[in-house]
Amino acid sequence: MVGIGVPELMIPDVLRRNYGRWESHEVVKPGVLKHVSESGEECYTVRVGMPSNARISTKTVLAFCDLADEYSDGYLRLTQRHALEFVGVPVEKVDSLIRDITAMGYVVGGLDRSLHNIVTCAGWFHCQLGATDPLSLAQKLNEAFFEDFGDEALPAKLKISIAACPNNCGEGITADIGIIGIHRDIPRVIKENLKECELPLVVSICPTAAIKPKRGDGLVINPDRCMHCGSCYMTCPALPIGNAETDGVGIFVGGKAGTSGNGPSFAKLVVPYLPNHPPDWTEVVNEVKKIVDAWRKDARAYERIADWIERIGWERFYKLTGIEISSKSMDNFVFALERSLKDNVRLRW
Ligand code: SF4
Ligand code: SF4
Repeated sequence: MVGIGVPELMIPDVLRRNYGRWESHEVVKPGVLKHVSESGEECYTVRVGMPSNARISTKTVLAFCDLADEYSDGYLRLTQRHALEFVGVPVEKVDSLIRDITAMGYVVGGLDRSLHNIVTCAGWFHCQLGATDPLSLAQKLNEAFFEDFGDEALPAKLKISIAACPNNCGEGITADIGIIGIHRDIPRVIKENLKECELPLVVSICPTAAIKPKRGDGLVINPDRCMHCGSCYMTCPALPIGNAETDGVGIFVGGKAGTSGNGPSFAKLVVPYLPNHPPDWTEVVNEVKKIVDAWRKDARAYERIADWIERIGWERFYKLTGIEISSKSMDNFVFALERSLKDNVRLRW
């Protein structure tokens, strides 16, 4: 029986035969998963790292499709973290598929105790709110931790996610290491264009109540309350945000969506600001390396970064990583309303 919403034609035979009957799975080598069903049938999956934001050319897509036709009955899927998986590869063909993927210049890995595919939002590529370029930053981080993607030598899985502004579409706040683009200037108010905007909506959309209507000026923004999220700019093109000279990124640590270990957690800000310095991103890569190297040396087996910090404490985290403690590191914005995500017109339930 096929579940609601699962197009039957897109399911390879091995999944159709064992739908809902899987009993176990294990990582048999870096990037290769073996699932075993209650019938004893096995299903092998090979995971491949994708470039930043999973942007690949049609030529590459077609090359992967040819491999899928040859090795996995034409079946491919993209994971939640933008990695590519060949599902249902006959066991005797796994090594040959890995050789062909490697020959294309791609790497097999990203499972279990490795670096998982780095996730980013679009940022400068095609979003007006971006304070940084998450794609080029992810590329540099991929290069810095390339060995950790194709190996199973980290203490636990490592998820790095990059969102180019505090709206957090790249989900940096629930990753082991989250990098989030930050604007440091408040939106500019282009008074003559305000007539294009619905002012009560603009006022109500601000999560920190920083925007107030003002007779004669249309509206004003209180710089002490603004957290530079850009939500008002999404509603009103007369309030552009972003400054090439001062925008940059912050680094957050210890986020986790899963319930393993000490349960889910939101990442905490540990590096409040680093400048945008593409294409090398030296400062950001160095700070991330400090975190990963300290965790690699000190964590216990299967201890995610959040659980490691929970055990050793934040004071020791700063000592082991050598990251400077800043008075600006904090859990939340001081003026954020208690339920800030619910207190605007877009997010209500
Ligand atoms: S996180 Fe910000 S920059 Fe990235 S896609 Fe979302 S709104 Fe755009
Ligand atoms: S919506 Fe965001 S950027 Fe706009 S004024 Fe409010 S806090 Fe600042």
